[in-house]
Amino acid sequence: MLQIEHISKQYTTGDLTQTALKEVSLNLRDNEFVAILGPSGSGKTTLLNIIGGLDRYDSGDLIINGISTKEYEDRDWDSYRNHTIGFVFQSYNLIPHQTVLANVELALTISGISKSERRKRAAQALDEVGLGDQLHKKPNQMSGGQMQRVAIARALVNNPDILLADEPTGALDTETSVQIMELLKGVAKDRLVVMVTHNPELAETYATRIVKLRDGKIISDSAPFELDTTSLNAPKYQNMGKSSMSFRTSLSLSFNNLRTKKTRTLLTAFAGSIGIIGIALILALSNGVNIYITDIQKSTMTAYPISIQEESIDMTSMLGSVTPHNTDKLNHALDGVYSNGESVEKASQAATSIVENNLTAFKKYLDDPDSEISQYVGENGIVYSYDTKFSVYTYDSDDVLLNTDGSTLSEGKQAAKSAMGDMTHVSEAMGNSSKTTENFEELIPGSGEAMISTAITDSYDVLYGAWPSSYDELVLILDENNEISTETLYELGILPSSAYDKLMEKIADGKKVKLETESWSYEDICKQDFYLLPACDTYEKNENGTFDSISEDKAELKSRLQDAVKLKITGIIRPKEDAASASLSAPLGYTKALTDYLIDYTDDSAVVKAQKKNKKVNVLSGMTFDPGDDDNKVADAKTYLENLGVSEKAKLAKEILQSVYSNDPARASQMMAMGEEELASALDSYLQNPEDDVLLSIYDNYISSGSYDDNLSTFGVVSLDAPSAINIYTDSFEDKDAVSGCIESYNQSVKKADQITYTDYAELLMSSVTTIINIISYVLIAFVAVSLLVSSIMIGIITYISVLERTKEIGILRAIGASKRNITQVFNAETFIVGLCSGGIGIAISLLLLIPGNAAIHALTDTTDVNAALPAVSAIILIVLSVLLTLIGGFIPSKNAAKKDPVAALRTE
Ligand code: ADP
Ligand code: MG
Repeated sequence: MLQIEHISKQYTTGDLTQTALKEVSLNLRDNEFVAILGPSGSGKTTLLNIIGGLDRYDSGDLIINGISTKEYEDRDWDSYRNHTIGFVFQSYNLIPHQTVLANVELALTISGISKSERRKRAAQALDEVGLGDQLHKKPNQMSGGQMQRVAIARALVNNPDILLADEPTGALDTETSVQIMELLKGVAKDRLVVMVTHNPELAETYATRIVKLRDGKIISDSAPFELDTTSLNAPKYQNMGKSSMSFRTSLSLSFNNLRTKKTRTLLTAFAGSIGIIGIALILALSNGVNIYITDIQKSTMTAYPISIQEESIDMTSMLGSVTPHNTDKLNHALDGVYSNGESVEKASQAATSIVENNLTAFKKYLDDPDSEISQYVGENGIVYSYDTKFSVYTYDSDDVLLNTDGSTLSEGKQAAKSAMGDMTHVSEAMGNSSKTTENFEELIPGSGEAMISTAITDSYDVLYGAWPSSYDELVLILDENNEISTETLYELGILPSSAYDKLMEKIADGKKVKLETESWSYEDICKQDFYLLPACDTYEKNENGTFDSISEDKAELKSRLQDAVKLKITGIIRPKEDAASASLSAPLGYTKALTDYLIDYTDDSAVVKAQKKNKKVNVLSGMTFDPGDDDNKVADAKTYLENLGVSEKAKLAKEILQSVYSNDPARASQMMAMGEEELASALDSYLQNPEDDVLLSIYDNYISSGSYDDNLSTFGVVSLDAPSAINIYTDSFEDKDAVSGCIESYNQSVKKADQITYTDYAELLMSSVTTIINIISYVLIAFVAVSLLVSSIMIGIITYISVLERTKEIGILRAIGASKRNITQVFNAETFIVGLCSGGIGIAISLLLLIPGNAAIHALTDTTDVNAALPAVSAIILIVLSVLLTLIGGFIPSKNAAKKDPVAALRTE
């Protein structure tokens, strides 16, 4: 039973207020077929919409089965419509892109009924209206009468108490109208049917009661239903039951919806994906460039470590001091004579720029695994260099013994010089009579067990043989053109020293020298043998119990070399084309294994053992290192002089004469001209009965007792705690900067004397590169931000358009009981799916675009080093981002959609 009590309704549009219903009161039975008749604009539709809960009344009350709706809120109305009311409209209001079955199911979907139940009940309802065989047709494939039957099936599927029909036959021909009326008549058997019509004949024929309206008032009622209101309980407030829809249901609803509009959805997703494509491409490119930059950084950093030498020149302060003379800085007028102290300042700057570094303390800091610096050290790690002292001898093709440091050749030169008089222009011609570059260099050790760093192995091609794998193996390093300097070839005994001497003679004679290019096969050059003589092996114990150097004694040397370690060239290498870290400068490279071997061998040698056993007495001279008082010095001087040989005495005599006659050079050179024997005897007679003073001054001036540490270092002993150089390699500029930072803070924490001065070659060479890299990164980030903005605006617009387009659908959904929340949910679900598709399509298109994109990059940059590639994580993040953006972009439009007035929504076409 439905009671309409004094209901009024006014519409206000602008200034115009129109009264649609004036104090209408009407009681309807549970079981009747009421027809409402009246001219157009008399308020029929308004009345029906108010009964159906689509529209709100201004005053009065609507009481259904004793439940007052006065206090109803939106959600109460939603469930009222869903559970109690079924609507049939003149224009059918079916959702065009869904099947007949889906349209009927919709009302049940909103009620949250399970899928199989839904199916069953919808099919049954359609069967009842005579459409059991047309379940899968779309509305536009049906006639008007059929569509209206579908609408009736939809209205009935929820088994409502009341069926409301607004001019259901208004658009149908007479024959079909009759069929529909028959159907409604049947429906009215067990429920209330209220039908608005302006066809009085149909009303007369089928309705059980006719109510006439005019100007918002009831003017006649064929079967009034008077109630004894006193016998009724007072109406109470109550909800009609739940209408709810899970997000999964909305999702599947939206999915079905989108599936029926495949092309449109694809286009929408594509439009939304353009932003994502932009971001993905920029990300891929910046990722590729970043990898490239990291690679470059790595190879640059392997070539340019942070380097700390035992004694170093502070390059930065040196460079800072070298400012060109600048008249701008003149701090005086040009009106007199002024002094310029610049050169003195510079000299002092240069002097103070040289610093001693305490590498022992710094190594302790580096070795501490907890120290801050360890996290920034790169793949190549920290490389410590130790001064191992050794000589390498070889025999040339004429079997002449050569020291590979070039000293044997200079000896020859010296001999030639004395034979031929002044020859200074010879040494000038050769440029390096005393060679400073060494012929042997340790290859940078690799990390862990690797003997050679990949920084080296990656930078060189092996032309022959293999990289050295043991301590007695060497690698020959050629330049880019497979060449080695002739001087080096002489020094290594590959070219005969006799030829070198002839060459020197020619130059001395002022002849022009033209050298033929000679060549060797890889096999032949590897046949050259080298003999290793550690520094400690050049000392031999004599009968006095002290040790003598044998390095000048050729015969002794030769016998030593017979059982010396033989070093073999086992590989020949050449720098790779454009290798950034081909930094080896010596012609022969040895491994850390040789350094380790030498360190152990030296520690185990007789001379080192003897010296270590007695730390007070110099094993070379037999004198105490630190005699303390003068008496000891005098005694030491005596023993020293007694043990001297003739030539040593002559040498000492010369030194003494030189200082004695320093004011009289003529007399000095006269004395110097004496032979060794004469000089020796002169010294002997001078020191026949020496005074203690004389001996003391000789000791202080000419005899050095040396020191324990000096001796050990002469013998080649290396302390692992005291490296001669430390090279710290990093993998990137940032890490390198962090390492510099760590050293700075290390310096803050230690005494002034222990502070470290380092050379940052990379910083010196390319401080601007980091800035450029940063600028590029910022530009790329800006691009990404713009793409994001464009993308989200795009998605917002698309969702907004989609809402506009589906206003009618929103009205239908609301009419059949969907709540505002349901509408929001359906739209959010739709934007979610569109966002997911956008993301997916965006990533797929980006990946496809990267193929020609990379080809273009390679063609443009002429290298395959830059590869734009989208990391998987970024791809996933982008899809999530796309979904999020779509949701945000669709949020306001879907809120708006929910707010739409269902009546107005239904009116839109
Ligand atoms: P009927 O269905 O009998 O033709 P309606 O109930 O649709 O009449 O309309 C009753 C009156 O209320 C009419 O004068 C109409 O102009 C007015 N009206 C109906 N709906 C609205 C609305 N949403 N806004 C303004 N006026 C309306
Ligand atoms: Mg109407």
